[in-house]
Amino acid sequence: MYNVKSSKAEEFISHEEILDTLAYAKANCENRGLLDQILAKAATYKGLTHREAAVLLECPLPEYKDKLFTLAKEIKNTIYGDRIVLFAPLYLSNYCVNGCVYCPYHAKNRDISRKKLTQQQVRDEIMALTAMGHKRVVIEAGEDPINNPLEYILECIKTIYSTKNKHGEIRRVNVNIAACEVEDYKKLHEAGIGTYTLFQETYNKENYEALHPHGPKSNYAYHTEAMDRAMQGGIDDVGIGVLYGLEHYRYDFVGLLMHAEHLEAVYGVGPHTISVPRICPADDIDVNDFNNAVPDDIFEKIVALIRVSTPYTGMIMSTRESATMRAKGLALGISQISGGSRTSVGGYKEEELPEDNSAQFDTSDRRTLDEVVEWLLELGYVPSFCTACYRSGRTGDRFMALAKSGQISNCCQPNALMTLNEYLIDYASDTTKATGQAVIDNQLGAIPNEVIKDKAKQYIKQMESGERDFNF
Ligand code: SF4
Ligand code: SF4
Repeated sequence: MYNVKSSKAEEFISHEEILDTLAYAKANCENRGLLDQILAKAATYKGLTHREAAVLLECPLPEYKDKLFTLAKEIKNTIYGDRIVLFAPLYLSNYCVNGCVYCPYHAKNRDISRKKLTQQQVRDEIMALTAMGHKRVVIEAGEDPINNPLEYILECIKTIYSTKNKHGEIRRVNVNIAACEVEDYKKLHEAGIGTYTLFQETYNKENYEALHPHGPKSNYAYHTEAMDRAMQGGIDDVGIGVLYGLEHYRYDFVGLLMHAEHLEAVYGVGPHTISVPRICPADDIDVNDFNNAVPDDIFEKIVALIRVSTPYTGMIMSTRESATMRAKGLALGISQISGGSRTSVGGYKEEELPEDNSAQFDTSDRRTLDEVVEWLLELGYVPSFCTACYRSGRTGDRFMALAKSGQISNCCQPNALMTLNEYLIDYASDTTKATGQAVIDNQLGAIPNEVIKDKAKQYIKQMESGERDFNF
């Protein structure tokens, strides 16, 4: 029985409700009256229900796809402006006891090189990342209570926050680790993490169980209810996502929105971010083994639909995707991307030899962070290294209230420009510096509040004499 407020995974992600939704979408996907109504609702920035979004996803009429894309671009522009937040993944350990058939870290893969960073190696990685200019990382680790217990993760977080480089430091550590208990989430919260992210992989229970044949992750309910425990543990910024390609995209798209609706209904705040990973090749993994590959045009539609369905939720696209797809995603709704990423353990300090491969997946976008920054500037975006909200306690419902009030642009815009300015002074190549400087001069005028605009200009001036880390 479907119940959005239930604490049970199989009730808030009801299989029957997903099947009913897909049947309803099929029956109504060319109903122009309904399609117009749904788009009109989305245009009020109030989001869409999973049923409404499913109808648009199913709709084969090209003019409605065009209308959807136009609306997604408009919503993206109004809420997020030109700003794109940058981050990098940091792999701590690839020891894992689980059996996920789509991941090369699965316990039975004897070919992959197993590595776990020591605290000195964590420091080395952070020195390499901060030398590139990064201020935000998301830490990643396999699930292994012996090699990577929670204490190890907590120690790494401490090490990351205490590592200082000449010009800067990591100011926000997001965490992507296995589902755990409320008590563990409390400890992560106390350690000062930003967002806790856990991908559902697929919401289809039967398929989920087949894809996770052994290990603690094989428990569908425990995994699906993880975000509830995280919220109960005090973490109010959570990030969700499915791995497109594992299950039919229609099913997982509906499940994903139902998950967001559940969090909103029970905790008053939906997910902070939604990621859109697609399965890609890796050691021991052949994408052709999976029958549900999502073609580019459908993938773009999914991005646009998530944007209009959850307008205030940040959207993330990683270096799994090519520069071309990332450019399309940015226009349709993506607000955060990774840059200069290494998906191997210890890969920032030292590039791995092919025979020593510990990477989780092959990156499509292999450009350096500076190349990504330069590219974003050329596309007309403002690359941002902002971490202000989390550091000033604007998380969960406090963040959402600010975002929905429309006042977020008075924070995001100056913070983006000031952190970009820091990047240009401390890390950028000469070309990036020149392009970025022009963008900053241009964009300072777009800060709506005059007092904040003047303050931002003053802070940027103060940076010339070496002062750093200003934010609103
Ligand atoms: Fe382990 Fe995560 Fe890979 Fe599964 S997806 S094998 S849990 S690292
Ligand atoms: Fe994100 Fe807040 Fe910074 Fe805006 S001000 S970019 S919402 S951290």
